[in-house]
Amino acid sequence: MNSEKRQKRIAIFGSTGSIGTQALEVIAANPDLFSAEILTAQSNDELLVQQALQFIPNAVVIGDEKKYTKVKEALAATDVKVFAGEKALEEVAAMDCYDMMLAAIVGYAGLKPTIRAVQAGKAIALANKETLVVAGDIVMKLAVENRLPVIPVDSEHSAIFQCLVGETRNRIEKIILTASGGPFIGRKPNYLVNVKREHALQHPNWSMGAKITIDSATLMNKGLEMIEAKWLFNLKPEQIQVVIHPQSIIHSMVQFEDGSIKAQRGGNLPCVMNAANEIAVFAFLRNRVNFLDMTNVIEKTMEMIPFIANPTLEEYFESDGEARNFAADIIKL
Ligand code: NDP
Repeated sequence: MNSEKRQKRIAIFGSTGSIGTQALEVIAANPDLFSAEILTAQSNDELLVQQALQFIPNAVVIGDEKKYTKVKEALAATDVKVFAGEKALEEVAAMDCYDMMLAAIVGYAGLKPTIRAVQAGKAIALANKETLVVAGDIVMKLAVENRLPVIPVDSEHSAIFQCLVGETRNRIEKIILTASGGPFIGRKPNYLVNVKREHALQHPNWSMGAKITIDSATLMNKGLEMIEAKWLFNLKPEQIQVVIHPQSIIHSMVQFEDGSIKAQRGGNLPCVMNAANEIAVFAFLRNRVNFLDMTNVIEKTMEMIPFIANPTLEEYFESDGEARNFAADIIKL
C-alpha cells in the first residue's frame, strides 16, 4: 500500500484555535499519516493564510465575509479554494476531499457544519462539546444510523473512550470526570464578584481558547462535559460523577450545579443553557457583567424559555435563538 492511500485526510474546522493549531502540529509532524484538506477560521485571516500556505489544503473558509478578498488574494498563487461565511462552512463540510472532520470550532457555531459532515458520511473527531450539549440526541442518532464514529477529543472523554476499547460486553456502571477546579479554587462569593476577565483567563493548568477557559473558571465546562459524556457513552445522568479537588470549590458553585442538574432533564434545556452561557461569557469577556452575574443570566434564561421535551433540529435552532435574545436582553447587550 502506498503512503498516500494510508494517509487520513483531515478537515480542521477551527484551525486557528487552540485545538486547531495543535492538530496542525501533529499533521506537520506526521505527513505520511495525515493531510490537512480543509481549514477554517472566523476572523483570524492572517493565521489562516499562513496555515494554508504551509499545508496547501483543498479549501479554506473564512467566517467573516469582509475578509474574503484579503484571503483570496493572499492565496491567489495556489490552487486552494477560498470560501467565506457561515453557509460556506456547511457546504465545505459536505466536500469529498476529506475523510475525518476535527470539529474544533468553539460554541454553537460548530453544530451545523458537524451535522452536515455526519450527513455526508464523515468520521468526526469532536472537540466542540457544545454540539452534543445542544443537540446530542440528533447528532448521535445520525452518526449511529450512518455507522460513523464520533471520537472524543476532550481529554477526559478521550481517556474514557480509550478505557472502553475492548470492553463492548462490559456495561458501564458509572464514569468519573475529574475537575481541576480552575483559578478560583477555595474563593468566597465576595471575592468572586470582583473577578476580572484577565484574572479569569489565567487557567492554572491548561492553555486553551478564551471561552473554554472562562467555562473552566465557572465550572460550566464540567457541566458541559457531563452532558457530552451522556451522549457519547449513552449514559444516564446518575451514571456520571464529577470529582473536584479540593471539595471547597463546590460551595461557590451551588447555583451552577443546580443549572447542570436541570439541564439533565433533557429536551431543549441544555441547548438553552448553552446559548445563555455563550452570551454570558461573551459579555464577561467584554467587562459587561461580573463573574457571578453569569450564573444569574443562565438561570433566568433557563426559567423563561419554554421547555420542549422532544425538540426537532429546527426547534433546537429556535430555542438557541430565543435564549440568546433573552440573555442579551437581561445583560442589555
Ligand atoms: P479557540 O477559541 O482557541 O478557537 C476556536 C476556533 O473556532 C478558531 O479557529 C476560531 O476562529 C473559530 N471560530 C470562533 N467563532 C466561530 C464562529 N462563529 N464560526 C466559525 N468559526 C469560529 O477555542 P478552543 O480551540 O480552545 O476550543 C474549541 C472547542 O474545543 C471548544 O468547543 C472547546 O470547548 C473544545 N475543547 C477545547 C480544549 C482546549 O484545550 N482548548 C479542550 C477540550 C475541548 P478565529 O481564530 O478566527 O477566531
